[in-house]
Amino acid sequence: MMKPFIAPVEDILFSLNHVAGANRLEDWDDGFTSELAIHFAAYAEGEIAPLDEPGDRQGCRLENGRVRMPDGFGRVYKDYAENGWPGLTIPEEFGGQGLGSLVLAATSEVFSGACHSLQMVTGLVPGAVRTILNFGTEEQKAKYLPAFASGATLATMCLTEPGAGSDLSRVRCRAVEEEGVWTLQGEKIFISGGDQDMSAKILHLVLARTSDNGVRGLSLFLCPSEKESGEKNPVTVTRIEEKMGLHASPTCQLVFDGAEAELVGKPGDGLKAMFTMMNHARLDVALQGVAHSARAYDVAASYASERAQGRKADGSPAQLDDHADVRRMLDEIDGLALGGRGIAHLAHVTLELGEDPDLVEFLTPVAKVYCTEAGIRAAELGIQVLGGYGYLQEYRLEQTYRDARITSIYEGANGIHARMLATRLVSSKPADAFEQFVALEEKSSSSGVVKQALDLWRGGRGVLLSADDPAPFAHDFMKLTEQTLLLCIWSRLKAAAGAHSNPQRINRVADRGIATSSAFAPAYAAKIERDAEIYAKKAA
Ligand SMILES: Cc1cc2nc3c(=O)[nH]c(=O)nc-3n(C[C@H](O)[C@H](O)[C@H](O)COP(=O)(O)OP(=O)(O)OC[C@H]3O[C@@H](n4cnc5c(N)ncnc54)[C@H](O)[C@@H]3O)c2cc1C
Repeated sequence: MMKPFIAPVEDILFSLNHVAGANRLEDWDDGFTSELAIHFAAYAEGEIAPLDEPGDRQGCRLENGRVRMPDGFGRVYKDYAENGWPGLTIPEEFGGQGLGSLVLAATSEVFSGACHSLQMVTGLVPGAVRTILNFGTEEQKAKYLPAFASGATLATMCLTEPGAGSDLSRVRCRAVEEEGVWTLQGEKIFISGGDQDMSAKILHLVLARTSDNGVRGLSLFLCPSEKESGEKNPVTVTRIEEKMGLHASPTCQLVFDGAEAELVGKPGDGLKAMFTMMNHARLDVALQGVAHSARAYDVAASYASERAQGRKADGSPAQLDDHADVRRMLDEIDGLALGGRGIAHLAHVTLELGEDPDLVEFLTPVAKVYCTEAGIRAAELGIQVLGGYGYLQEYRLEQTYRDARITSIYEGANGIHARMLATRLVSSKPADAFEQFVALEEKSSSSGVVKQALDLWRGGRGVLLSADDPAPFAHDFMKLTEQTLLLCIWSRLKAAAGAHSNPQRINRVADRGIATSSAFAPAYAAKIERDAEIYAKKAA
């Protein structure tokens, strides 16, 4: 039987407070955050999570040009909005509760664990709010933010087109201005929540071309589903995609046929403005990965503690988790959740502190890549722990796997993030900021493993800096960076274990993490060195 969703509240608060150092934020109130997280967890467990399985089975439908969400989604969303959850981090002057964005690290992970599909359709609001706060006019803020806070409006992010996926310079959707009014003409594909019947309105944040000057010709627009007159803006859903998972999240093909829109920021600054939204979404996607890892651990650990198979060394009947190989898998899944959460929270806290934007720039792609691959691996390992039952639908880990699978593709495919780290960031201040961060961690860590990884990482960076083309090293450099960062996280986990109600578990996972990362870091470093020799020979 499926195990009901239990939000990992203690692990989340432990990670924020004791691993990522949230108390360095001036307005951080751990008591209040803890109450809020417990409150949201109860809500997610009781109201949101029960939608997950039926939503997956029923899916979304396109009826007469409108998307119909699965049964119950509209009711729960209405309730979610009435309870004030959409406005948590929106400033009070715009009808929100004005809390610091870090509370989203708790609520967003819990939401994704309860129902990834619904979280996706509602989860773009905080990024849209931040983008409008940073780049919008006072009039735009007053017009759109209160509707986000009340839940009347949900947001979409419209980048992808049939010819423009990873390469946004190929965007063709056009914006033209006539007599002070901008209109959009073109097609977007794969737009999450491009339409739904839960919120009264939708605000599409659209990247469109205002000139032919490559990415510098791209501008960001706010395109509401309804014109101010109340008339429908011509944005049409022409299809919704059939997918491997996330059946309750409508992935829409949209046609903008002269739809009225407002420019945000300056013409040509679209990508810069969109990056605010995308960076927010990237950390959110990292948390989706953490949520999948934590869910996989909960289901697998509970099953393995109850199923009797085989015998212990003394001949007495054993449960699955008495077997060393099953324990290995459970510890690995737990480590993927705890380690990933540590990385995602560290990036989030550093972002909120605002003192080291270079470090944030470096940590964000690493968090996105590590946590999403962790979620997929954890779901896959969870299936293995359950054996044949893992492959069946009954325990829903197959749904976790199907839902998790997209996370390493959307919000920038992981290969694109790795390439960016290796080609652009490696030679810039963000990589220096990372190096300084690890060097500081090394001083406070009691074992020599962080120092060893830092030396290897510096060596790897050196190879990339002297390579004519660092792109072929991108994957291995990302992996080396992940293991280096993880060693800092494992050290922090060990140092903080006493603050958790189960210090034994934290210490065991951290020790196994140290053993794994300190074995893998030299392997990736060696691979980079060997590949450099191979490429040098080829070039000669
Ligand atoms: C369920 C779902 C929801 C989505 N939601 C949204 C949304 O809300 N809004 C939105 O705008 N988009 C959305 N997308 C689109 C998603 O962001 C894209 O699929 C993604 O950016 C990859 O683009 P692509 O599919 O065209 O793949 P491609 O760009 O064709 O890439 C395919 C593969 O090639 C690799 N690759 C491509 N170019 C390079 C390169 N230069 N160097 C190295 N490797 C490269 C990639 O890493 C990838 O592995 C969604 C997609 C799905 C499936």
